[in-house]
Amino acid sequence: MTKIKSICVFCGASNGVNPQHRENAIAFGRMMAERGVALVYGGGRIGLMGAVADAVMAHGGKVIGIIPQHLDDIEVGHTGLSELIVCKSMYERKVEMFRRSDAFVTLAGGMGSLDEAFEALTLRQLGIHDKPLVFFNDLGYWDKCLEMIDGIIEEGFARPSNRNLFTVADTLEEVFEQLAAEPAPKFDPREKLL
Ligand code: AMP
Repeated sequence: MTKIKSICVFCGASNGVNPQHRENAIAFGRMMAERGVALVYGGGRIGLMGAVADAVMAHGGKVIGIIPQHLDDIEVGHTGLSELIVCKSMYERKVEMFRRSDAFVTLAGGMGSLDEAFEALTLRQLGIHDKPLVFFNDLGYWDKCLEMIDGIIEEGFARPSNRNLFTVADTLEEVFEQLAAEPAPKFDPREKLL
């Protein structure tokens, strides 16, 4: 068991079609603040990203946003955060997000969210960090992605044990429960590449 003090949230820079995804992002932000868990995220003000950050701030929580200079305009760098770090590149953003958080949670999102979640998973697969990742699967949003991972394992392109790199939660309460049940990381990632 480990105490999670900060969560890096991956989610859409869009709101998506179903308004429930935005409601979930807002609820998750509130729950993080209530539990004293800091949010680390991509620093934008739009879509679900903005919604989760606004909710954490509105409930007295802490938010660290990390945004590359060139995206500061497009994703509208959030100016109302506890801290906004403007970095040089997408790669630097990822490394900073990964370094500064104890765990990852993927809410509904697009290709950027997928990229970030899979980078977190592949780095855990390679033993570069040992931080848990939860897919929040409300409305079965990630079902097709999870099926694809199962197919990859069936086809022998990933080990069955790789299914333990992440968990899947159907409710926001479960997200916190699953993170609390995780064993402490086996090593400090600063010893590795991050
Ligand atoms: P999306 O899920 O596509 O709405 O994007 C969510 C976040 O992921 C946004 O902050 C994007 O800037 C970010 N993102 C998009 N593409 C990438 C990428 N290749 N690497 C890292 N982050 C990305």
